[in-house]
Amino acid sequence: MAIPAQTMPEQDPVIRARNMNEVALGYSAEQAKCEASRCLQCPTKPCMRGCPVAIDIPAFLKKAATGDFAGALEIIRKTSLLPAVCGRVCPQEKQCQKFCTMGKLLKDVEKSVAIGRVERFCADFAAANGISPTPAPAARSGKRVAVIGTGPASITCAAECARNGHDVTMFEAFHKCGGVLVYGIPEFRLPKSIVQREIDGLKQLGVKIETNVCIGRTLKIADLLQNGFDAVFIGTGAGLPKFMNIEGENLVGVFSANEYLTRANLMRAYDEGHADTPFWHGKRVAVLGGGNVAMDASRMALRLGAEEVYLIYRRSLAEMPARREEIHHAKEEGVKFLLLQNAKRILGNTEGRVIGLECIRYELGEPDKSGRRSPIAVPGSEFTLDVDTVVVAVGNSSNPLIPATTEGLETNAHGNILVNSETNMTSIPGVFAGGDIVLGAATVILAMGEGRRAAAGINAYLTSGK
Ligand SMILES: Cc1cc2nc3c(=O)[nH]c(=O)nc-3n(C[C@H](O)[C@H](O)[C@H](O)COP(=O)(O)OP(=O)(O)OC[C@H]3O[C@@H](n4cnc5c(N)ncnc54)[C@H](O)[C@@H]3O)c2cc1C
Repeated sequence: MAIPAQTMPEQDPVIRARNMNEVALGYSAEQAKCEASRCLQCPTKPCMRGCPVAIDIPAFLKKAATGDFAGALEIIRKTSLLPAVCGRVCPQEKQCQKFCTMGKLLKDVEKSVAIGRVERFCADFAAANGISPTPAPAARSGKRVAVIGTGPASITCAAECARNGHDVTMFEAFHKCGGVLVYGIPEFRLPKSIVQREIDGLKQLGVKIETNVCIGRTLKIADLLQNGFDAVFIGTGAGLPKFMNIEGENLVGVFSANEYLTRANLMRAYDEGHADTPFWHGKRVAVLGGGNVAMDASRMALRLGAEEVYLIYRRSLAEMPARREEIHHAKEEGVKFLLLQNAKRILGNTEGRVIGLECIRYELGEPDKSGRRSPIAVPGSEFTLDVDTVVVAVGNSSNPLIPATTEGLETNAHGNILVNSETNMTSIPGVFAGGDIVLGAATVILAMGEGRRAAAGINAYLTSGK
């Protein structure tokens, strides 16, 4: 317990708020060893209970503590295909680190062993030293699998299917692969070269990738099944933005966080002079919401040149769903948090452009169904904020295209595809689904877990017909 928790080196907040480089710089080898050696090696392994893919955390930390980072990565990779991604973006404080005995002894989850940071170091170390994690694929099965989407659920499913010897083709609607890892999560949190590394790894496994193919439009699920695919996996995510349904949401200068971030990340709008993507140069930006997406959008606004960025959230900091680390980073970089306040209507000029935001103050009442204290508007507390851009980041739901174009594919009331909880098979035999399209907007690691379970389901279906 005397070993000090290692601080993550970071770019200076004033400098980083105006560049796209990664904020967290990563541990040194000495720091990674030191942090890993804080693990108490509890025989009951409580941290594993918090990991959705049950990585043997004490075992990999034990290896990392001795400097055997390649050995540590080998253990992680048994159950997690994307350690460099998960080490950066997983909400560890709500998962593995929440159950860490060290954190409990020190009465602070922030003082738990920094499992994610050590995981990240091991993955980066292996990449920097050319340690290839790609195992040889199994004997060919002669079966063909179509994987729709290239987000973490699909990447995991495709890799597992290829390792099981099946012939895999991925279909992606965008021109670039990676799903939210590429179009949503900004470069300053997750460098795109890391995602590309994983996509290259899939190609080395023999996976074929067809971009610019929108299933449901270019081809339908029925076409895939009729054209020689023996099984299909749907991993199309939850990319349909929700709006506030308030007056003024159709004004010029209002964006869904999805569009705002996609233009900046996938279409590289930040790289002015090199990228052709037109971009709205908001100087005073209001971001509505309190999740990770709202944090990403507000921090991106600073990097795109905004002078003032307001994050407007109708509850208090305690209820905010975003990761503590993201909140801390956003505040450090200069995002102004307007808590217990909400947008009432967006104001426009005669040309239909945003010129302001009418807000109203809130107070907290009794807990609602989610257990969080419910926000209650304070009558007469309206005020106007001078902004020229509004980014709506209040959630996403599943894209209805595939359910709408696939006869017999059952969904729930939210439009999420219904699957068998053990195999991830949908209501159509041979068609599987996983990730956000099944769970609703969730997390990278949960999407990976789904992709892995679906791959096992596909393998059983293709080898035994069940
Ligand atoms: C801005 C943002 C920040 C986030 N931050 C975090 C974080 O810090 N930590 C975390 O754990 N989670 C985070 N998440 C959530 C996480 O990224 C998702 O839960 C995860 O990516 C879901 O994976 P998926 O594979 O199911 O879908 P996605 O990653 O959404 O991938 C779906 C893919 O399918 C493609 N597609 C869709 N429809 C079709 C079609 N009809 N035909 C062909 N292709 C199609 C899409 O283009 C996309 O490439 C964040 C989400 C967003 C939006």
